[in-house]
Parts: sequence; C-alpha cells; structure tokens
Amino acid sequence: MLRGWLRLLLDVVFPATCEGCDTTLPAGHPSCLCDACKAALGRAEGSLCERCGVPVASDSPCAACRTRPPAFGRARAAGWYVSGSVLASAVQSLKYRRRRHVADVLGAHLAAHYPFPTDVVLVPVPLHPARLRARGFNQALLLARALGRRCGLPVASRALVRRRATRAQPGLDAAERRRNLRHAFRVRTPGAVAGRRVVLVDDVLTTGATADACARALLVAGALRVDVYTVGRAP
Ligand SMILES: [Zn+2]
Ligand SMILES: [Zn+2]
Repeated sequence: MLRGWLRLLLDVVFPATCEGCDTTLPAGHPSCLCDACKAALGRAEGSLCERCGVPVASDSPCAACRTRPPAFGRARAAGWYVSGSVLASAVQSLKYRRRRHVADVLGAHLAAHYPFPTDVVLVPVPLHPARLRARGFNQALLLARALGRRCGLPVASRALVRRRATRAQPGLDAAERRRNLRHAFRVRTPGAVAGRRVVLVDDVLTTGATADACARALLVAGALRVDVYTVGRAP
C-alpha cells in the first residue's frame, strides 16, 4: 500500500516517459510503454520458413535453410525488428539507454505469443565479456529472466559463455561470419543442458549465425534440441 503510494508520488515528481515514443506516462501507469505503443509492438506473422522464421513466398524451409540447415530446430520472434518501429525503439532503449526494466515488457510480449513446453530450460545468448563490462548487463539474460518468470521456466544463466572477441564485421559474407563464430561459444556447465530441450533467448535475430553457433555448442554438450526465441527478427 505504502509502496504503491510512494511509486505514485515519484511518478508525479519525476514523470516517466514511454520507451517507445517518449510521451509522458500518466502517474501510476503500470508499464514503461504507453497503451498505443504496447498495441503497436506487433507480431511476426505471415508465411514463415519453418526453420529460421524468415518470411517466405511459398516454399518452406527457405532456400538458405535447405542449402545449409541450421543447428537449431526453429527460430521464432514476437515481432518484426524494423528501424523506427516501437519494437526497435524499445529494444534500443534496453540496450543503449540501459533501461533494464524494458526487458520485462519485452519478455512479456514474447511470452504472450508462444506456448512454451514446461520441460525446457532457457539459455540466454552470452555477450562478449568486454561488451558486458561496458554495458553492465546482458540484455538477453534480462529477457530470459522476464520470460522465465512469466512462463515458470528455469534460466541457465551461465551455462553458455562467449570465449573470444567476435566483432560484428559488416564486410563478411555468411560463410566467413560462420567461420568467425565457430568456437566462439562454449558450454561451461554441461549438466545444465545435457538431456534437456533448450530455448535460446536473445533480443534480435538477424542472420541467425550467432544463434546457429550457440545451438551447435549446446548440442555438442548434449542438449536434445535447441530452439531460438527472440523479441525481434529482421524481416
Ligand atoms: Zn508510447
Ligand atoms: Zn529458413
């Protein structure tokens, strides 16, 4: 009760703004997104590749997945990550403005879209240690925790680690990127994933190369199957 009043008082003195559109939120608003932005987070729907979730005109799996099937079973996202969209603003707010609480609304958005089996373990895509130091937190871990809270699923927060610098190099083609990422991930606690179905969690899926490298490491460590769930996906 007192906590509620205190929160309301703080909202009046320091009004919060929506992480999607920057408008001032009414005092006591239960979310960091205004109602309009929450409704505009969108859904990644339509005709999708059964494996990687990319939009396809007719054939599934898509040509890329037929040529080189990914290590993960399937990748799915809550919404499309398009520059300027509410979803992109909210993800950027979490990562670059360090608004940790945004992870909660984004995790809830993901949880609302998919039924998750009760026997899976959530594993966040690890950040490189240098980036983790700079940012102070791993957004994928915050999202996995938010998802885990909503769905009652365990999070193996330190099962997977990133072991060497893997910089995003825009000049690389897909094969070079894969080579760059090979051996970048290591399972530190195989007991947490061996014999389990794993759901790999990240903020955004773009090429899928990182998720593929993570899934490979998890399967080598004995995971039965690895699926990937992200808040956003590049269409
Ligand atoms: Zn808004
Ligand atoms: Zn595909």
